[in-house]
Formats: sequence, structure tokens, C-alpha cells
Amino acid sequence: MIDFTLTSEQKALQELARDFAEKEIAPIALKYDQEPFDPEAILKKAHRAGVMNMTTPKQCGGHGLGLLDASLITEELNAGCAGIGGMISINSLACGPILIAGSDEQKKRFITPLCEAGKTASFCLTERGAGSDAAGVKTKAVRKGNEYVLNGQKCFITNAGFASLYTVFATTDPEKGTRGITAFVVPRETPGVSIGKVEDKMGQRALNVAEVNFDDVVVPAANVLGEEGRGFKIAMETLNEGRVNIATTALGIARSALEASLKYAKERVQFGSPIGTFQSINFLLADMAAAVDASRLLAWYAASRCDQGLPFAREAAQAKLFASDTAMWVTTNAVQIHGGYGYIKGYLVEKLMRDAKLTQIYEGTNQVNRIVAGGALMR
Ligand SMILES: Cc1cc2nc3c(=O)[nH]c(=O)nc-3n(C[C@H](O)[C@H](O)[C@H](O)COP(=O)(O)OP(=O)(O)OC[C@H]3O[C@@H](n4cnc5c(N)ncnc54)[C@H](O)[C@@H]3O)c2cc1C
Repeated sequence: MIDFTLTSEQKALQELARDFAEKEIAPIALKYDQEPFDPEAILKKAHRAGVMNMTTPKQCGGHGLGLLDASLITEELNAGCAGIGGMISINSLACGPILIAGSDEQKKRFITPLCEAGKTASFCLTERGAGSDAAGVKTKAVRKGNEYVLNGQKCFITNAGFASLYTVFATTDPEKGTRGITAFVVPRETPGVSIGKVEDKMGQRALNVAEVNFDDVVVPAANVLGEEGRGFKIAMETLNEGRVNIATTALGIARSALEASLKYAKERVQFGSPIGTFQSINFLLADMAAAVDASRLLAWYAASRCDQGLPFAREAAQAKLFASDTAMWVTTNAVQIHGGYGYIKGYLVEKLMRDAKLTQIYEGTNQVNRIVAGGALMR
């Protein structure tokens, strides 16, 4: 039997996250869409409320939840604001390589202190010349005895400005292509690590996204995740879970736009009737609700396969591309339903439309996710 009813524990998690998003995130969302944002206070509150490090095992200081349970929380946080909610939820992407490939000693050394202190990490894969083609990374790691020396620059790195550590993908053997890429953990205070340009973005403006420079950064061999040459595989495995996270981020944005549109369609009167009673608006709302529900089911399905230890790369790619295309479509229609007001700053749906666009781009553009899903179908 397939049962979509949430357990009482899952409902409690959902309520906890909804309550946090409504009280702590949504009220500041529009303000920090326009003004510089210092994340310290909200991170402290998120840590205290228990909405961080959801999938990190309990023995490392996390909550030990499955990806489906974590998806319930991610949807709620991102319905409050994708910039602020994303800052909290994308931390799981950065910790992913350590949880997937790290030894028990590495998890204890790197993950436990993060969880205890409510600090964050960043996932450093993308470079100016290597975006969709992540195998083309040029950041170099040269082994010298029991250490590696890293040189290079990563760009578009989420939470870079305040992360305590970085999971970095660098080439240890350029001749070997993807098999020459190795994953490292680099603590922020390591000499030679610096933050470059902080990006001024279209949407999700509370999200800190910046360049990270590595200039003769010396890292002990004990910070290599897995083994030399396994980095690309670790990055791709991490992104599978990350894509479910982005699907639920997009879902949170789309749901928020649907809720705002429904409210407006009931309140806004033209020609003597609420605009939601006009068939063209009413059917649009029906289609938006159907697409939001379908996004949720695809995300839950991919998450549940992950939790059962089944292959889920195709399902994660499908959920990510469908939910993010839905978020873009639903938020665009939400602006339409709000008429001229939807186009004006200060109206939530104007922000949501800008926020939605990013979900079609990061953690693999939707073109790349179609390549992943289509490739899996042909195999
Ligand atoms: C706000 C933000 C936050 C981010 N956070 C992180 C982070 O924390 N860590 C990290 O490592 N990266 C991060 N990224 C990087 C993000 O994952 C990349 O931007 C994305 O993978 C695309 O790479 P690109 O920007 O270089 O685009 P390109 O790869 O140059 O792509 C340009 C266009 O070409 C298309 N394209 C490329 N190759 C193909 C192909 N083979 N077939 C069809 N179409 C193709 C793309 O779909 C796209 O439309 C972030 C990006 C942004 C904007």
C-alpha cells in the first residue's frame, strides 16, 4: 500500500519548521531582499530550534533524519524565504562529501564541532572555467610528503563568507580527467584561504555567494576524503542528495507564491467580483496547485528511494528539474495574478519570481539534469 499520510513525528517536524519559518524567517524576508544581511543571529536561532544538520547522524551531533524527513523541513524553511532558508539547508550539501566518504575520525574532527556550534560549511566545486563541465576543474593539489599544496579559485560558493570549513574538489592528476580529482576538507583559518568577490545576485539575495581563493594552501593528507582520485564520484553522489534539497527549495518558493496568489484572488475585486471567480484566473490557480503537488510527490519519491538505499540519481534529477521549472512557472503566474502590483518591489511575488530562477541553475542547470535523467533512461 502507498500511504502519503505523514507520521506524528513527521507532522511534528513539519510544524516545528513551519513555526520557525513563520516567526523567524518570513517577517525579515523582504527586508533582507533589499538590505545587507548578517546571518549570525538567524543561524543561532535555527541551531537552537533544531532545524539545522537534519540528515547528519546523531553520533556526529546531527538529527539523524532521513532525506524525506529533511525534505519536509526544507520546504517549510524555503517557503519562508529561499535566501535565508537556503543558507540553512544548503549546509547539508557542504557536509555531504564528509558524510559520504569521510572516515569516522574525519566526521568526528570536522562535522561534530560544526553541529555543536551551529556553524556552516561550503561546497567548493564550481570554477570560472568549469561550471556544468565540473570535470574541468583547474584548482590543483600537489602532494609533498604527508601534505598537499592547493592553488586555484572557486566561484559562486554559497555561504563562503562565513563558512568554517570548505569541501574542495581539486585535481591531483590532470592527465586522468575525472579520475584525477580529489576531495579535501580545508578549514577556513588555513593560511592562503581568502574570500574574493561577493556576488550581487538577481534573487535569493540574503544568500551569501562568493569566490574562494586558495593560494599555496597546505592541507594534511589526513584531510583527503575517501582516496586520491575519488573526488568526482563523491561530488556527484553528494549532488544527488543536493538535487532533492533543491527540489524542495523550489517547492517552498512555489507553494508560497500559490498561497499569496490564492489570498489575493479572493481579496482583489474587479468588475464587482473577486478575480479568483473569473475562470481564466481560477483555472490558472488550479493548474498551479496541481504542479506544486506534483513537485512535492516527485521530491518525496526521490527522497524515499534514497532513504531505502535504492538508486535515485534519475529520480533526484527529475524532481529537481520539474520542481524548479514549476517554481519559475508558478511564480511568473503569481505575478500575473497580482497584475501591476505583482511587478512592484515590496510585493512578495515579485521577490519569489527572482528567487525561483536560481533553482533552475544551481546544483546542475536543468539542461544538465535533463542529461542526467535522459542518460539514465537510455541505459
Ligand atoms: C547563486 C549561486 C549559488 C551557487 N552555489 C554553488 C556552491 O555552493 N558550490 C558550487 O560548487 N557551485 C555553486 N554554484 C554554481 C552552479 O552550480 C553553476 O553556476 C552551474 O552548475 C552552471 O555552471 P555555469 O554557471 O558555469 O554555467 P555553464 O556551465 O557555462 O552553462 C551555461 C549554459 O549552457 C548550458 N549548458 C552547458 N553545458 C551544456 C550541455 N552539455 N548541454 C546542454 N546545455 C549545456 C547550461 O545549462 C546553461 O544554460 C552556484 C551558482 C549560483 C548562481
